[in-house]
Amino acid sequence: MDMEQPLPEAPATPAMIDPHGRAVTYLRVSVTDRCDFRCVYCMSEHMNFLPKKDLLTLEELDRVCSAFVAKGVRKLRLTGGEPLVRRDVMTLIRSLGRHLETGALDELTLTTNGSQLARHADDLFAAGVRRVNVSIDTLNEDLFQQITRWGRLPQVLEGVAAAKRAGLQVKINTVALKGVNEAEIPSLVEWAHGEGHGLTLIETMPLGDIDEDRTDQYLPLSQVRRSLAERWTLDELDERTGGPARYVKVRETGGKLGFITPLTHNFCESCNRVRLTCTGTLYMCLGQDDAADLRAPLRASDTDDLLNNAIEEAIGRKPKGHDFIIDREHNRPAVSRHMSLTGG
Ligand code: SAM
Ligand code: SF4
Repeated sequence: MDMEQPLPEAPATPAMIDPHGRAVTYLRVSVTDRCDFRCVYCMSEHMNFLPKKDLLTLEELDRVCSAFVAKGVRKLRLTGGEPLVRRDVMTLIRSLGRHLETGALDELTLTTNGSQLARHADDLFAAGVRRVNVSIDTLNEDLFQQITRWGRLPQVLEGVAAAKRAGLQVKINTVALKGVNEAEIPSLVEWAHGEGHGLTLIETMPLGDIDEDRTDQYLPLSQVRRSLAERWTLDELDERTGGPARYVKVRETGGKLGFITPLTHNFCESCNRVRLTCTGTLYMCLGQDDAADLRAPLRASDTDDLLNNAIEEAIGRKPKGHDFIIDREHNRPAVSRHMSLTGG
């Protein structure tokens, strides 16, 4: 061995490594299953929400998130349901911001429908948040209302504008829906890139019972990408986030365009994430039912020993991958829980 060779610097916190050799560095947390919208692909119009007593308190959410950060998680994403409709959620966000200050955490971010963004944008920035994902499937007000059932586009656009003014980088998430917003995708990209926002297209995933037929909504992004490539030059970017997204730069607009294709491409081999629900259930894979209860060990003791053991045991069970399929024969959810519970 060459003794002159400097040893690689040991990371401040050792990462959690799952049985398939993947470091788990990203925690997504659904802070509530409730939402002020009822998007057709996500929820049925008459959802039964969890009783409030089953939810982790904000202090408990902070404790679990902090335990994960101590174990090597570098990125936290708050989602839902709609994270910004959880009462006092800013208290949690401000508190989690302390891990950015110590350098234990690289990023604290959230995925939001944007409805409450206008009043929270400055506070988010002050808490250390630098980027937010905002979901917008159409720029047509009527269609927006049809898709979200209860949403109002101008309110969301005002939220996006406020985020930009506050200094937050915005990425737009758009679920590609066959025959619904399909024709509008190029103009959505043009708008987002013109405003300086990236845009990521998402394929519909079979999660939870909804009121509609999922095969009617499913639009393979491979098809969308082919048609966009006829219009624009798409330069492949190397960027990998350890998730299902692949990115290109649109040469003509200069903006970034992402494709999240869990169904047409398998992304599991590089998966770096786990998901916590608002009741303290940890899902090791978005597409599998296996889960670990962290609420019981959390509540059983004031110290984190039991919680830490439960986290380690759960990471030791992270499955290799998912098996989503949407076709005529499999027109049922691959997993029974809704995206709003697990967090998108
Ligand atoms: N309410 C927030 C929002 O809409 O951004 C955060 C939660 S939402 C569940 C997160 C993301 O998941 C959104 O971009 C939404 O469009 C997407 N989503 C919801 N249900 C989906 C499904 N069945 N398939 C694919 N994406 C879905
Ligand atoms: Fe709410 Fe987001 Fe689901 Fe739409 S996608 S219903 S905004 S949680």
